[in-house]
Amino acid sequence: MEFSVLADSYEKLEATRGRLEMMAILSELFKKAKPDEIDRIIYLSQGVVAPPFEGIEVGLGEKLVEEAISVATGYSKRRVEEVYRKTGDLGNTAEELLSSKQQMSLFSQPLSVQKVFDNFMKLAKTGGAGSQESKIKGLVELLNNSTPKEARYITRFPVGKLRLGVGDPTILDALSAYKAGDKSLREELERAYNLCSDLGLVARTLFVDGIEAIRKFRIKVFNPVRPALAERLPSAEEIIEKIGTCAVERKYDGLRLQLHKQNEKVEIFSRRLERMTPMFPEIVAGVRKQVGAKEAILEGEALAYNETGGEYYPFQLTMQRKRKYGVKEKAEEYPLKLFAFDVLYADGEDYTQRPYHERRKRLEKLIGTGSVIKLSDMIVTGNPKKLEEFFEESIEKGMEGIIAKDLNAEYVAGARKFAWIKLKRSYKGELADRVDLVVIGYFLGKGAREKFKFGGLLCAVYDEKEDMFKSIAKIGSGFSEEQMKQFEEMLGKIKVDHKLARVDSEIKPNFWVDLKYVVAVAADEITRSPTHTAGKGKDESGYALRFPRMMELREDKSPEEATTVQEIIEMYKMQKRIQLEEV
Ligand code: AMP
Repeated sequence: MEFSVLADSYEKLEATRGRLEMMAILSELFKKAKPDEIDRIIYLSQGVVAPPFEGIEVGLGEKLVEEAISVATGYSKRRVEEVYRKTGDLGNTAEELLSSKQQMSLFSQPLSVQKVFDNFMKLAKTGGAGSQESKIKGLVELLNNSTPKEARYITRFPVGKLRLGVGDPTILDALSAYKAGDKSLREELERAYNLCSDLGLVARTLFVDGIEAIRKFRIKVFNPVRPALAERLPSAEEIIEKIGTCAVERKYDGLRLQLHKQNEKVEIFSRRLERMTPMFPEIVAGVRKQVGAKEAILEGEALAYNETGGEYYPFQLTMQRKRKYGVKEKAEEYPLKLFAFDVLYADGEDYTQRPYHERRKRLEKLIGTGSVIKLSDMIVTGNPKKLEEFFEESIEKGMEGIIAKDLNAEYVAGARKFAWIKLKRSYKGELADRVDLVVIGYFLGKGAREKFKFGGLLCAVYDEKEDMFKSIAKIGSGFSEEQMKQFEEMLGKIKVDHKLARVDSEIKPNFWVDLKYVVAVAADEITRSPTHTAGKGKDESGYALRFPRMMELREDKSPEEATTVQEIIEMYKMQKRIQLEEV
């Protein structure tokens, strides 16, 4: 495929304000793709050169891209900077400068998708001395052969600002529409995606081997599996009512890790499926020593542990282990223990479709003696009183609460199901649980905050059915001065001049932003609201948070992992019931 076809589609996507239209543009694009290039088309459209968990980044800063534009167009760096200042966008800068240098396109070869992808991949793999020069050269080569419109996207790509706003669910819908003309294959495609976290691979499998191969898709070591998620219920009684006799595990407050092992090779992925192997050397060693299988995929929660005091450190200290530098020192200061709670694969057997009780048995056999990996504490009970006691004991030990697990349920990758139900301490007069919201826009400071170009956030929850982000709260409190500065800087970089196609909000912030940040927010309660769009129906008002307060940035969550509209509605119902009981 010629790159110009892709650039035309990107231009259309950029101008789109609706998700259905986005899906149609993508499925039309897919119809023009050959099976051996569909994965590259998908990666490029996601703004990556490989599935995100591989962590391969093109890594060209803005300054280098400016330099490449200058070399390719013959304009001075000052001129490039001037135009950049005016347009505020590197892509538009390259486009403008290249169009005033029209003659070149007459002589150049049309760029292919393959060529663009290969060059970016080469740039990503270039490192070491002199790498900056060769990266600039690689980009110049592309720009020398591109039309102004192509240059717009070629320069946005390496700085991570493609900003097409297409989410994974939209790509899955578009793949289904390409193959079946409607969304009927979405669920099957999604299952495959949940098992491998690689949309390029799913698309290639569909294109090359058809839907049958998607149906037979299996889990693979070193492809992270999208994690199963927990639902919530307000009491021990309701949990037992819902799933009967169940396993009850402590809810450890640490980092969720997925461990992959093949012989001596070990990889660790975060809940967001980022590769974290270099951060946790003691866990890598623990897996090699204690996991008794040639190949395995398991999950657990890692916590910093104080050997001297014999107690777990709070979450904030565990989080300090998420770092690129000073790993060894921090590992000595705050060594981690891993509480294994599930096994997804072991020696050729896919366990995701086996019931919990079988998986647990396998897990117990899998973990050998050693000090790093332990099994999660667990009891099996059908008695709400016993569950309650275990819950209270967990709180006393400093845990967040418990997670009850349906003994007969499969491991449902990437989904929130009643297979796992969490129960946390409910504080009177406050929302029992914090919610995780996506930042969709922000406001400028007023009054005492005028000195900051930041005065608060406009936040949304995720509507899974519609794949849209719907407003639920304006957050103006809970920010330290430092955080305000941090937000001013972070959000300034991802400002966009219009509401994104997947955002639904009637409130207009001073600036809309790309969907990137998730924040944990506490509130007093959930109320019905005519101004917010979360849960809003034709004749029904939406939901809002009363007195929302910013707690922390959730860098471990992606926008699609934020609290969903459905969860808000359930929390609202739960709150109503608790209020009634209290009267
Ligand atoms: P939440 O993030 O509040 O939705 O709760 C689910 C999270 O609890 C999981 O993603 C895990 O990180 C964590 N967790 C802690 N202990 C367990 C456990 N025993 N089983 C499953 N998840 C656990």
